[in-house]
This record gives sequence, C-alpha cells and structure tokens, in this order.
Amino acid sequence: MISRAKSEQLFAEALKYIPGGVNSPVRAFRAVGGQPFFATQARGARVVDADGNEYIDYVGTWGPAILGHAHPKIIQAIQRAAESGTSFGIPNPHEVTMAKLICAAVPSVQKVRLCNSGTEATMSAIRLARGFTKREKIVKFEGCYHGHADSLLVKAGSGALTFGHPDSAGVPAAFTQHTIVVPFNDEAAVRAAFAANAGHIAGIIVEPVPGNAGLYLPKPGYLEFLRQMTRAEGALLIFDEVMTGFRLARGGAQERFGITPDLSCFGKIIGGGLPVGAFGGRAEIMDYLAPLGPVYQAGTLSGNPLAMVAGITALEELFAGNAYEALEKLGAQLETGMKEAAKAAGVPVQFKRIGSMFCGYFTDKPVDNLADAMHSDRDRFAKFFHGMLNEGVYLAPSQFEAGFISTAHTVADIERTIKAAGKVMKTLSV
Ligand SMILES: *Cc1c(COP(=O)(O)O)cnc(C)c1O
Repeated sequence: MISRAKSEQLFAEALKYIPGGVNSPVRAFRAVGGQPFFATQARGARVVDADGNEYIDYVGTWGPAILGHAHPKIIQAIQRAAESGTSFGIPNPHEVTMAKLICAAVPSVQKVRLCNSGTEATMSAIRLARGFTKREKIVKFEGCYHGHADSLLVKAGSGALTFGHPDSAGVPAAFTQHTIVVPFNDEAAVRAAFAANAGHIAGIIVEPVPGNAGLYLPKPGYLEFLRQMTRAEGALLIFDEVMTGFRLARGGAQERFGITPDLSCFGKIIGGGLPVGAFGGRAEIMDYLAPLGPVYQAGTLSGNPLAMVAGITALEELFAGNAYEALEKLGAQLETGMKEAAKAAGVPVQFKRIGSMFCGYFTDKPVDNLADAMHSDRDRFAKFFHGMLNEGVYLAPSQFEAGFISTAHTVADIERTIKAAGKVMKTLSV
C-alpha cells in the first residue's frame, strides 16, 4: 500500500472550507470510497500526487488533455500571451484565429461564439435553439450530461448520475417542464415525444457518443434517424461535442458518423487545459445571437487571450501530425488487452471503446443506454478502481465516466496498464 499521508492531510483541511472538499463532485471519490489524492504536478501521461506517487493518467483532466499534460508548446504559448496581458474585454486577434480553426475543422459550423465552459455552451445553444425556432421544448436523453444548467439537469449523467441525484435539488419544476427525457438508442421514444408535442419542440440535444454514463455508442442509423426526425419536424439537432469534439476526429463525432447537426457545442480540448467553451452552427441560426439578433449571450472573460492561445496551440498540434491514427492504435491495444485480462480472470466485462475514449462495465449484458449501464456491478468497479490506483494507474473514480487516452501515452504505458488490470481482475473473480 502506498502512502497518501499528505493528500489525506490536505483533504481534511479542504473539507473544512470547501463543500465536500472539492470544487466538482466526482473528484471526491465518493462513488468508489476513500479519499482523493491531491495532484501537484502533471506531465505527459503522468500525474503526480502530493506524496510523490506517480500514476499513468486516463482521466486527462476529464478530456482536455488529449496531448498529455503540460505540453511544452502550450505552456510556452500561455507564458508569451500572459506577458501581453491576461484579459482585454475587447476583441483580440486570437479569437479570430480560434473561430477560423473551429469552422475549418467542423464544416457544419459556419459561425461560432466562444464562452468559458461546456455548461455555458450548451445552455446558450439551447436558448438560441428556442429563440430561433420560437418553440419551448427540448428533447434530451437519459444519461447524457450537458453541464449543470437548470433545464438540463434532468436524468443527467456524470456526477449527477454517480451520486444518484440525476435531478438536482434547487431546480424548480417549472424550469424543467419543457425538457423531455427519452432513452438513448430508442427511436420509438423520440417519435412519441414529437407526436405528443407536435410543433413545440425546439430541438434535440445529444452527446453523439454518450460519454457521461460510462461510454456507449449510437446504434447504426440512430444519429441519422435523429437528423431526419428533427429536419422533418422543423426542430434543430444540437450535438453536444464538448467531450467528443476534436477527440474522435478532427471534425468530432459528426465527421466520424457523417452527420450534419444544426448547432454544435464544444469545450474541453479546445481550451488546451484552460477554461473554454464554444457553440456554433449555421450562420442563419448563429446570427440570432446578440448583438445581431434577439437571443442574449455574453461573458466577461469570453475569448480570453490565454485560453485562446492554449486552445489554438493544442488544435494546431493535434492537426499537424497523425494524432488520431496514433490514438486509434493505442485505443485498440488497450481494448484487446483489457478484454483478454477480463476473460483470463473470468470477470464479466463489457469493454466499450471508440478511438481514444473507453469504459469497462462490470456486467455480462450488452450496454447501449443508461438502463443497461446501470446493470454494472459498481462494488466491483470500486475494487477495480482502487486496485488500479495502487498499481499506479489512475482511472476516473466512477463507473459512469469515460477514460481518455492521450498522444503522450506510449505502447509501454498501455502494456503496463493491461498487466495491472490482469493482476487486479484476478482479485475480483469469485
Ligand atoms: C464536460 C461536459 C459538459 C460540461 O462542460 P463543463 O466545462 O464542465 O461545464 C457538457 N457536455 C458534455 C458532453 C461534457 O462532457
């Protein structure tokens, strides 16, 4: 057992001043028991805790670190930009560069508005969809997480799901009465929602690859169905690509699946590790935003120069080489190895993966939606998580989170991870 004495001391102190000791709930390790470690350094594919323990990191700061941590080019870009001022509150050239980069990579995005988090992006995209269509209702899917805006905290994934409160206290029923929730990968439920609310649905918001209830994939034709349905009903299709954007392909999940949404939301990777969000789409829709149109949206720090240069550098670095091929190879290596390790140990696991995103559910049943994901043996996951942590591998501290591989991970890192999993799995078999 490795010592985490300093982390324990820090957490005791944190608990006195910060609710639950953390500034985002999943970090508290409550789903797996025990206490979080405190990170003092992260470089490449490694994160180091306050006691000097080093872990191979598959959390990647929950998605942004696709190039690994502390990429030298990103650090340098931030340092240089900081010397010219950390915020201007008036347009800066980096905003234009960033907007052009996003529009070039994602053809469905003709214009884009930058904000400060994924939550802001989805909240604003929904407001825009409602303003543009002059309709009130929004369809979302069980287990999809779109940040913590009031109207979207209904049957949400991520921390909301992990702690068994997919519907938050403090959200008046009136704020969610226009949110219709349906199961993912279910066509009949979407048809029924449109039939029951004909002419009132502003749009569907969806994670094209849901990664906030673990990870499951759209069934063949499902995203096409959502595209056809929304088009036929005069509703907008909103892809929440805060997680999948620039991760599954240069053009995100929409490129990978060949779907053209009306609006898209981004965050995570486009900030290069600093706080950013963005939403964009057809110019005709985007021009409904203030100051051109009647839909209000704003931000004191939006387009922040440090965040812009960090994100621009990250995207340029991603696009420069064969990053997506490299990530696919590492992902395939991990998938093969993890499946073999589980089989050898006789532990039933559904290992889901697409590109550099993955999740292992401890169940023998297929997982295609939230209800399926709930079959996973969470006690077993908690034991697996702690076993892996003690082997120096840091996975997300919840069954309902995706894992992320970065270009900084090596074949040797993946091998070590598989070996650790093999050892830990054996302790789980009955
Ligand atoms: C992380 C995430 C969000 C929220 O982004 P924040 O920056 O945490 O506000 C929204 N949607 C999806 C799909 C996400 O993965």
